[in-house]
Amino acid sequence: MGNLQNEFSSAPNKEEELPLEELSTALGSGHSGNHGKYSNGLVLRAIGGKMPGGFKISSVKAHLSKMWGLGSKCTNAVLLVGITMEPTKCLGSEAEGKAGNPGMIEHNVVATQQKYKETIRQWEKTIPITPSTRPHTMEWREEGGRLVVPPDDALKRKILRQLHNHWGAGHPGSDETIRQVQRQYFWPLQRAWIDQYIKGCATC
Ligand SMILES: [Zn+2]
Repeated sequence: MGNLQNEFSSAPNKEEELPLEELSTALGSGHSGNHGKYSNGLVLRAIGGKMPGGFKISSVKAHLSKMWGLGSKCTNAVLLVGITMEPTKCLGSEAEGKAGNPGMIEHNVVATQQKYKETIRQWEKTIPITPSTRPHTMEWREEGGRLVVPPDDALKRKILRQLHNHWGAGHPGSDETIRQVQRQYFWPLQRAWIDQYIKGCATC
């Protein structure tokens, strides 16, 4: 574990031989959930090197809390995961920094579905979508397995920022963007909405 070891009150013996799950359980007890000196240094270096000027750690934390409603410990966890998937180059704009990651967006879609439960139940009558219940949440997918996106424009823009504007997506044309979005997400009149979005894209 190298330098990271200092951030935990105690580490199990022969930690390199333990399965990850056991190791994390052993390390988790007694850990505050805050970054120590070493991991904080890694996070600051990643943000300093890859985020656009002015988008500092405080801006990143404020953004995560406002956009995703994360508390400080969740924010810490996201920052740690973030340094394992840094962009390869410095991001050009704050919008790119804010595009978010796909897992978070899916989570957001499911959360927003709960707000639009009644609407989606109406859709069930005419569109082949079904709710699947998991232990703590309920989520709707259409028959192909794609997540059903409720009629929330801000949420759809978030999806498009990820799959069209993001540094990794690189503003693909209409057909390719529609294909990317339709691989994972479904909403009625999807193609028209996406075409409208691309027409309004400042970069395209
Ligand atoms: Zn574009």
